[in-house]
Amino acid sequence: MTTIFSGIINGDAPADIVYRDKLVTAFRDIHPVASTHILIVPNEEIATANGLTEEYEELAGRMLVVAAQLAREEGVAESGYRLIINCNPDGGQEVYHLHLHLIGGRPLGPMILRE
Ligand code: AMP
Repeated sequence: MTTIFSGIINGDAPADIVYRDKLVTAFRDIHPVASTHILIVPNEEIATANGLTEEYEELAGRMLVVAAQLAREEGVAESGYRLIINCNPDGGQEVYHLHLHLIGGRPLGPMILRE
């Protein structure tokens, strides 16, 4: 399923792109929840984290390595940050093109509110 993220990756839709290589593209979230809120997105259309089969080990590793690199560049590596992948409805996924959120720049509180 093609989403707006493919348009951004292809250059057909606008975005504030902060990193790009042959495997991933990273751009700022359009509705940031903190001063740093970047999405690290596979260039290939993979809908959810469930698509991360063995053949995607390099890609999955690249997503994390790029997140750590961008955290350093954003100046949040030492203060701290959170990496999130939402998967499917219970995970709160809205855009069905796999993406890793890098969020930092303020205390983010507990990971999940208890019921
Ligand atoms: P998720 O709930 O994990 O699927 O998160 C989707 C994220 O994509 C949300 O944080 C949105 O604000 C963000 N988003 C949606 N459309 C765009 C866009 N055109 N450019 C940048 N971020 C977007």
